[in-house]
Amino acid sequence: MELIYKSTRNANETATASMAILKGLADDGGLFVPDSLPKFDVSFEDMAKMDYRQVAYEVLKLVLTDFTKEELMYCINNAYDSKFDTDEIAPLVKKSDAYYLELFHGKTIAFKDMALSILPYLLTTSAKKNNVENEIVILTATSGDTGKAALAGFADVPGTKIIVFYPKNGVSPIQEKQMVTQQGDNTFVVGITGNFDDAQTGVKMMFSDKKLNAYLAENGYQFSSANSINIGRLTPQIAYYVYAYSRLIASGEIKSGDKMNVVVPTGNFGNILSAYYAKLMGLPIDKLICASNDNKVLYDFFQTGCYDKNREFILTTSPSMDILISSNLERLIYRIAGNDAAKNAELMQALSSKGEYTITDEMKNELKDFYAGYATEAETAATIKRVFEADGYVIDTHTAVASKVYNDYKEKTGDTTPSVIASTASPYKFTRSVMNAIDASKDSKTDFELVDELTAISGVKVPQAIEDIRTAPVRHTTVCDKEDMEKVVKGFLGV
Ligand SMILES: *Cc1c(COP(=O)(O)O)cnc(C)c1O
Repeated sequence: MELIYKSTRNANETATASMAILKGLADDGGLFVPDSLPKFDVSFEDMAKMDYRQVAYEVLKLVLTDFTKEELMYCINNAYDSKFDTDEIAPLVKKSDAYYLELFHGKTIAFKDMALSILPYLLTTSAKKNNVENEIVILTATSGDTGKAALAGFADVPGTKIIVFYPKNGVSPIQEKQMVTQQGDNTFVVGITGNFDDAQTGVKMMFSDKKLNAYLAENGYQFSSANSINIGRLTPQIAYYVYAYSRLIASGEIKSGDKMNVVVPTGNFGNILSAYYAKLMGLPIDKLICASNDNKVLYDFFQTGCYDKNREFILTTSPSMDILISSNLERLIYRIAGNDAAKNAELMQALSSKGEYTITDEMKNELKDFYAGYATEAETAATIKRVFEADGYVIDTHTAVASKVYNDYKEKTGDTTPSVIASTASPYKFTRSVMNAIDASKDSKTDFELVDELTAISGVKVPQAIEDIRTAPVRHTTVCDKEDMEKVVKGFLGV
């Protein structure tokens, strides 16, 4: 049966999966959501015998229903190949406190690779299916990791250009170096004098600017998005939760049907929303544990039912979670409002005009599966040290936020359900913060000296992504004010 996607702000705006992937954002500024979620039609015992690619197919065939099997297999096989440094693609490793689902074995060593290695294939296949002749311009705002993963995914993909905006002073040195050294004639990277929310707002404005879009079309271009507002990113992320569950069965840790919890370090709410979709599709997830850093707008929302972005934006050591406007929360709001686009649109209008909205008690009742917590900077650092001392295992700052929130949860509730922590980045991506947490006496060393220290204590080989940037030349130097993003885009496109 064909699955139809609808805008969260207008029940009449619908699209097939491939059209929704091409457009990224609905015309009315809403996000595309599936109008219902189909149930898995293969047993979890059977999935326990499959590899990552096969599990991904079992998921994607249910949510990208206008793709043929051949098209999906083409996309999956080209995405999840030797670009990943392990055949398992997303290994589940058992440590003393929980299972860590390592989502950082792709090209840019963060979990964004899980979706961004397949998105270019999904997007170019969608263009072909819909007879699109314009060149596709991927516009992306990044808090650090999406940018590099999208650049790596789209570099030199025929028929596409990619333009990435990042907060000039809001990403880690390694994240910045990774982006500004990006190869590929179709890649453009811009630092903006503003924070991530400024970058994301600027990009969303260009998407919904009808005049700009018409002007681009005259010149043979159309925009699409590599941010997690695109269902081409959300849907592949469902697969690794199913895969994690199937590995728990395969290793005899649980029986099919037993519950698991998931713990997700959260920023734009894309990763945890994918877990929620997996649950709606029948994956036996009990609690969805949402972990925030000091930018705890989501924690406050789950406590009070009031989403309030009017607060100080705090730069932390987990920069990919430094976000005050969690875009994908809109998809959850739409759902708990009973798939009511008008009600959701009203709340999102309040968010953009007043910076806050409050949900009804009835809607709040629908959030019982979620638990939220947050970790301060000191707690995050202490957690990295604790896990290292207990298990000799080095986790990154984002994963540490999740680990801390999970341990608080366990203490508070006594819940011993097997729990999977989404491990969203390699510690090598945030080497300085990680090494500072473990041994602050090394702080005077350079970033690359710290990389070598990290290898020495963890025994984990330096990932290729880090080796690559040790000596790579800087290719991108554009910096602009947040007001000038459109001008910069036109300049790159020569229109
Ligand atoms: C993007 C990112 C997150 C946040 O994920 P969302 O889907 O935006 O909630 C967490 N950790 C890392 C390392 C990331 O790159």
